Amino acid sequence: APVVLWFRRDLRLGDHAALLEASEHSKHVLALYVLDDALLKPSGAPRVAFLHGCLKALDDQLGGRLMLVKGDPVNEVVKAAREIGASAVHVSADTGPYGRRRDVEVKKALAEHDIAWTETGSSYAITPGRITKPDGEPYRVFTPFHRAWARHGWPGPADTGESIVDWVEPPWSVKLPKSPSLKGMELPEPGEKAALERWHEFLDDGIETYDEDRDRPDRPGTTRLSPYLRWGCVHPRTLLADIAGNEGTGAKSLRGEFAWREFHADVLWHRPETARKNYDSRFDAMEYESDDEAFKRWCAGRTGFPIVDAGMRQLLAEGWMHNRVRMIVASFLVKDLHLPWWLGARHFMQHLVDGDLASNQLNWQWVAGSGTDAAPYFRIFNPTTQGEKFDPTGEYVRRYVPELRSVQGKAVHKPKDVKGYPAPMVDHAHERQVALERYGAIKGT
Ligand code: FAD
Repeated sequence: APVVLWFRRDLRLGDHAALLEASEHSKHVLALYVLDDALLKPSGAPRVAFLHGCLKALDDQLGGRLMLVKGDPVNEVVKAAREIGASAVHVSADTGPYGRRRDVEVKKALAEHDIAWTETGSSYAITPGRITKPDGEPYRVFTPFHRAWARHGWPGPADTGESIVDWVEPPWSVKLPKSPSLKGMELPEPGEKAALERWHEFLDDGIETYDEDRDRPDRPGTTRLSPYLRWGCVHPRTLLADIAGNEGTGAKSLRGEFAWREFHADVLWHRPETARKNYDSRFDAMEYESDDEAFKRWCAGRTGFPIVDAGMRQLLAEGWMHNRVRMIVASFLVKDLHLPWWLGARHFMQHLVDGDLASNQLNWQWVAGSGTDAAPYFRIFNPTTQGEKFDPTGEYVRRYVPELRSVQGKAVHKPKDVKGYPAPMVDHAHERQVALERYGAIKGT
């Protein structure tokens, strides 16, 4: 009997463990994707547009045989599986809170029709939840998790591709909906082929200098793979296998970043409520401001702090922001404006093309101090010195803040009465004290 391969966050055909597993049960596989409003409605336009591009690319790889349906997966997956007389539905595990709840229901509905449910692999090198401390407790700190993760290891890439099975002609399919307007924002090329091209380009000329350049927003020093990893256009095991045995500083540092992605997913798996709530519940008592005007200025990149404004405008222009700058703008929102992290996290999720619940919410919490961070809470970024240090020639700021283009060199980080550019909206030294007092009050409890 044929089987269904239900694609979710694994929009590729190479290194696809669930496809390999499906092919061992049947040579006739129906490729299915469900457009689910529960996921699509809250997603920002860049993420939806990129997803549509990835679906189009996947459909092309499948010779037009991707079955696209719209609606509640509980009904749609069962309907499709029954229509072709499938014996099983194969998936890569989705370990996010919504995906887990949904899959319990879909699995139950399939069981009523004697259709098997098979989960193989996930979007991670090691499926979240698998690594625990020797006493069975989850890790709460990155470094020991990272060590255990590396020690645990993972199998090599699954040997799959488009011709491993015969793709079943879809019994019906809806048209890919029109993508939302991006107002001039340019997104990366979607799909598996583009992901691998970007990766190979990085292996050719980025990996050696990655460790030196990764903190420099003015340089194109990082992989820019985050949107592809988000939608599973490439699997991390492929990437890890390609740099296995490379003990250079670049490869080592990159493995560490991949491990951060896995750590946050692991934390969210063990504590799904941290998508919304503080990981460290002492922070529930934190005093925040509610200042719409200040929040709007932050969102628009009009704070008067050049590195913050450059980052926020990069986000609006590209749907992506450099990691160092994500940390700086997040710290500014929480520690200089005293606004709650979840407001910033929501804005990021609306605009990031790589918006990912685990990486976003838990990085925000990490910066806010309410997350898994082992770093002392009194470490508060000074946005001006951060700018001077990581954008030493001011090139990054000038690229995204046209009002400051006439200011040469690093002086751009301390603009003086530049026409059209706002004065700093707060006094950092003062706000730092306020933040310290508020943190002190809750940390002591
Ligand atoms: P590279 O430096 O090339 O890193 C390679 C890969 O490692 C990335 O693609 C990503 O998958 C992973 N990675 C790197 N740093 C981190 C990190 N700190 N946490 C988790 N994974 C990491 N990343 C997202 O993918 N989605 C998000 O929604 C997201 N929100 C963030 C919010 C804040 C406040 C902060 C501080 C960071 C956030 N990150 C998020 C992490 C990081 O900024 C991006 O993964 C990175 O900038 C993507 O660019 P890159 O692919 O060129 O990264």
